Amino acid sequence: MEDKIEILRESIGDISSYNQIVLRGRCPYCNEKGTFRQLSYDLENSQITGQTVSLKCEGCSSIVAFSVTQTKFYPAPMLKGLEGLPEEIDKYYQEGIRCISADAPNGAVTAFRKVIHAIGIHYEIAKVNDNKTLYKIIQELYDQEHIVKKLKDALIGVKDIGNDGAHINENEPDIEQALKIKHLIDTVLNSTILCDSNLEFVKGKHSRQD
Ligand SMILES: [Zn+2]
Repeated sequence: MEDKIEILRESIGDISSYNQIVLRGRCPYCNEKGTFRQLSYDLENSQITGQTVSLKCEGCSSIVAFSVTQTKFYPAPMLKGLEGLPEEIDKYYQEGIRCISADAPNGAVTAFRKVIHAIGIHYEIAKVNDNKTLYKIIQELYDQEHIVKKLKDALIGVKDIGNDGAHINENEPDIEQALKIKHLIDTVLNSTILCDSNLEFVKGKHSRQD
């Protein structure tokens, strides 16, 4: 994160910089050092980010928000989370999303770890205040065929990184890792919780027609 952002146009954010290359820096999405083109000229103002403008990475074409006030990328306000999750899972999932938005990767991975626990509670594998380890919850999700082996292995990766986020060590997650974990959690939620509700919907339709 110590990569310096080099402003190439002093008038960044202004209409005169519209569609111009305005800065050089490391892209929060492709992680390459490259140039960014200004996509808008209406500076948006937010309490957290200050004045932001949207930029496009010339390398991977990802669109990022850039705070002109703080000289800092905010990839996360563009972040879209899954919808339609049950409330007891959604509260931790949304917390993870908000942490990414606030550039708080340690908080994000810790929240995503809680999402795994909440999935376990949903399938009655775990309880609130459970002393069952996350490893055991993940293993049982696999044993009861809620998740396939690939997802089980991926989840164990999340569990380990979540541990790194909760303790001070040399493996503390950065925002890139937090985003990767978010994608992984999305895959898990899509193939379990959201898949169940789609199935119920399909079955419901079917029984009405019979
Ligand atoms: Zn990029």
